[in-house]
Amino acid sequence: MSRTEEAASLDAPSTVAERRLIGLPACAGVAIGPVFRTFEQPAQITRSKIHAADTQAEAARLDAAILQSRQQLLKLRSRLSVLPEESQGEIAPLLDAYLQMLGPSRLVRGARSRIQDRLVSAETAVMEEANAVAVALLGLAAGAQSGAQSGAQSGAQSSDDPGAPQRQADEVREIGRRLVRNLTRAPFRSYSGAPQGSILVAEALRPSDAALIDPSRIAGVATEEGGTDGHTAIILRALGIPSVLGAPGLMAGTRPGNTVVVDGSAGVITLHPSAAALAGARRAVAAFARDRQRLGRLRRLPAVTLDGEKADLQANLELPVELPMVAQSGANGIGLLRSEFLFMNRDTVPSEDEQAESYRTVVETMAGDPVTIRVLDWGGEKEIEALVAAGLVPEIMDANPALGLRGIRLLLRQTELFEAQLTAILRASNAGPVRVLLPMVTNVAEVKAARVVYLRVAEAMRARGERIPHRLPPLGIMVETPGAALSADALAAEAEFFAIGTNDLCMYTLAVDRAELHVAHLYDPLHPAMLRLIQFTAEAAARHHIPVSVCGEIAANPAFTPLLLGLGLRSFSTNASAVPRVKQAVRSTTIDDCQRLTWQVMKQSDPDRTRELLEGFGR
Ligand code: PEP
Ligand code: MG
Repeated sequence: MSRTEEAASLDAPSTVAERRLIGLPACAGVAIGPVFRTFEQPAQITRSKIHAADTQAEAARLDAAILQSRQQLLKLRSRLSVLPEESQGEIAPLLDAYLQMLGPSRLVRGARSRIQDRLVSAETAVMEEANAVAVALLGLAAGAQSGAQSGAQSGAQSSDDPGAPQRQADEVREIGRRLVRNLTRAPFRSYSGAPQGSILVAEALRPSDAALIDPSRIAGVATEEGGTDGHTAIILRALGIPSVLGAPGLMAGTRPGNTVVVDGSAGVITLHPSAAALAGARRAVAAFARDRQRLGRLRRLPAVTLDGEKADLQANLELPVELPMVAQSGANGIGLLRSEFLFMNRDTVPSEDEQAESYRTVVETMAGDPVTIRVLDWGGEKEIEALVAAGLVPEIMDANPALGLRGIRLLLRQTELFEAQLTAILRASNAGPVRVLLPMVTNVAEVKAARVVYLRVAEAMRARGERIPHRLPPLGIMVETPGAALSADALAAEAEFFAIGTNDLCMYTLAVDRAELHVAHLYDPLHPAMLRLIQFTAEAAARHHIPVSVCGEIAANPAFTPLLLGLGLRSFSTNASAVPRVKQAVRSTTIDDCQRLTWQVMKQSDPDRTRELLEGFGR
C-alpha cells in the first residue's frame, strides 16, 4: 500500500462544504488544481548485517530514530486542537497508538533484540520486527482472538471489531516505515505521478524534496508543517510556485483528486471551493500574471532612486533550473549561489570536476556579471544524505542541529571537502568574475583558517600548472549570527566582503527556529535587535571600505527596501522573481526620504509600529 493510500485512512469523512484553512504565505500567487499527495519511496536499506562490536552503536541509532519519530508525532498531536472536533476524535487515537508503539512495545523490544542477537542493522531490525508483529496480528485475526495481542498494537483493541487486526497491522507497519525513514534519512520523493497542474499536498517537505519539484507540472504546494523562512519556502519562492505552508488540518481535510485553491499571497487554502470561490481564484490567477508582465517591463531599466543613487540588484540561485529566470529578472549578477543543490538528492558527494562544471556553467551564463558562490552550508534543516553516506558528518543528529557542526565549522573539519570545492570554484573563476562566500562564520579565527586553506589550494593549483586568475576571487563571509554582526569590525579586517544573511541572523538573534510553525509569530526581522545588528554590520563595512549586501529574505520584500536603503545598504540579492518588485521600490523613492524613515524606525521599540511605518511609507 502506498503512503498516499495509507494517508487516506487518516482522513476525516469528506465534506462538500467549502472550508478555508489558514497557513503561512510562503510564495505569492494563486493556484487551482487537484490534490496530489506526495508519497515517499520505500527507504533503501543499504546495510543489513553488522559486526558484533557495533551492536551498541546500532542500538543508539535506533534510540535516536525513536526519539525523532516521537518528536514528529508529538508535534502533529500538539496541533490537533485547531481541527474540528470530529477530525480530532479520529486522528488523536491513531497518533496515540503510534506513540505507544514507540514506547516499551513489542516492536521496540523486538527490534533491540534483533540487533543484539541477529547482528542486523537498526533499520533491518525494525523492518523485520514490524513485519513479524503485523503477521502475528493478522494470524490472530484469522485464528481465534486471544490475549496474545501484544503491547506493540494500538489502543483500539476491540474484539468485536473485525477490521481492528488489519488496522493494527497497518499501524505497526506504518510506524516501522517512519522509523526506517528516520534511520535512513530517506530523502527522495517521487512526483512523477503528479497530474499536470496539480497541487502538491504533504505533511512536510524538506528542502531536498522541494528541489525535485518541476514547476511546469506542479501548480501549487500546501503543507501542514514548515515556516516561511526555512529553506523549503526559499526553494518554492525560487521556483515561483504559489505555496502555503504550516496549515494544520490539511492532510485530514484533503483527498487525492479534490480540487483546492492555494492562495500563496494570503496564506489560505480553500478546500471544496464553491463556484464563486473558483471564479474569484481564476480572476486572481489572471491578475497575478498581468502584474508579472507589468513588472517584467522594468527589466531593462536601471535600479536608481529618484535622486540618482544606484542600487545593485542581484539574484539568489538555489537550483540550476532558475538560471533562465535570473536572466529574465534583470538581476545584474548572482549575489548568493547556494551550492547545497549540488550535494542534494544523491548518494555520493559530487567530484571536483562535476562541481567545476556546474559553477562554470553558471559563471558563463552570467556573461561577465559577478557570481558569488557560497561554499557548502551543511547543517540545520539542510540535511544532505551524500555527506552522511560518505562519513563526512555525524550520523546521529546533534541535540541542537542549528547550533552544531554547520557551515564553515564542518568545512574546516573536513578539509578535503573544502579543498575540492575551492578548487572547483577557482577553476570556474577563469570563466568570469567570481567571489567566494563562507557560511555560518562566528569568529575571526574561522576566516583566517579558511584563508589558509584557500591560499593552499591556489598554490597547489599553480604548482600543478593549472591556470587560475592572478588576483584570487575575493573571500567574504555571511554575517548571519549575532556573534559575527557584533564583531563586524574585527571580521571586516579579515573578510573582503560581507553578505548579511538575515534569515539565520533573525533565527539566532531571537532564538526562533526559522522553519518552525509554533514560533513563527516570533520570527520578526523588524525586531529592534535585528535592525540594530544590520545597522552595525553595514556601518562596520563602510568604516572598513568593504562591500556589503543583504541576501536574506528581507531583501526580497519591497516594503523593506526603503529601510535598508536608509540604513546605508545599496546591494541586495533576492530570489529572481522579486528583483523587479525591489527595483520598482528603489525607483520610487529618494535616499533623503529613506533616511527620514529609518530615523523614525530606529526609535521604535514595537515591531508592529515599524511595520505600520513601512506600510505607510510613500503613501
Ligand atoms: C541567510 O541565512 O539569510 C541566508 C541567506 O542563508 P540561508 O538562507 O541559505 O541559510
Ligand atoms: Mg544562512
